[in-house]
Amino acid sequence: MATIADNLQAVRDQIARAARAMGRDAEKITLLAVSKTHPAQRVLAAVDAGQRAFGENYVQEAVRKMDAIAEARGPQIALEWHLIGPLQSNKTRAVAERFDWVQTIDREKIAARLSEQRAATRAPLNVLVQVNVSGEASKSGVAPESALALAQAVARLPRLRLRGLMTIPEPTDDVALQRSRFRRLRELLEVARAGGLALDTLSMGMSDDMEAAIAEGATMVRIGTAIFGARQTTRSMT
Ligand SMILES: *Cc1c(COP(=O)(O)O)cnc(C)c1O
Repeated sequence: MATIADNLQAVRDQIARAARAMGRDAEKITLLAVSKTHPAQRVLAAVDAGQRAFGENYVQEAVRKMDAIAEARGPQIALEWHLIGPLQSNKTRAVAERFDWVQTIDREKIAARLSEQRAATRAPLNVLVQVNVSGEASKSGVAPESALALAQAVARLPRLRLRGLMTIPEPTDDVALQRSRFRRLRELLEVARAGGLALDTLSMGMSDDMEAAIAEGATMVRIGTAIFGARQTTRSMT
């Protein structure tokens, strides 16, 4: 049976091949290992295989894992934790205190709370505006027409650092459709940059559509199943 270390290597190879096919530098693509529902023990296996950036969807579950990992490997291992699930306003304080990135900003109110609650002694919280590029099929994310205004508002918040955009398109095997959704996000990033925002991150692509995302310019892919295997839970992803 393939180990988590084997799976990680296979995913890194897949990213490198997809980048090379487009004449892109694979070093510019961050692999975010999505560990939601998987126990700390499996996250540790990925840490021991060199993985440092992890994505989690549920705040309490993530905090438990952060504590277990710090306990097991010591606080000197610097991991980067990304919240990639929807964020409710009663959870913002724990997120501002424990996470390094929040990829699911789709309301100014939540962003403002995170900014207020991020300690001045910490680096600013990195954030992405989540855009719903596939319309009504997916419920989270701001509409593409409203993304620029939200990005401009978020960029003004003092304790946040707006890094770019994120999307979760509807699942489809149609590669042309996958690419058109990802292209939409890249075009929005270009518009935001032209409008003066210094953005460097396009978070798009999961286990089943990462090639299309890399072809359209992803700088971060969020990979769960291909690293950790199938999730055991029936909990909904969004
Ligand atoms: C679960 C999840 C992923 C990982 O999906 P896989 O198909 O398992 O690679 C990526 N992004 C988000 C936002 C998720 O919720």
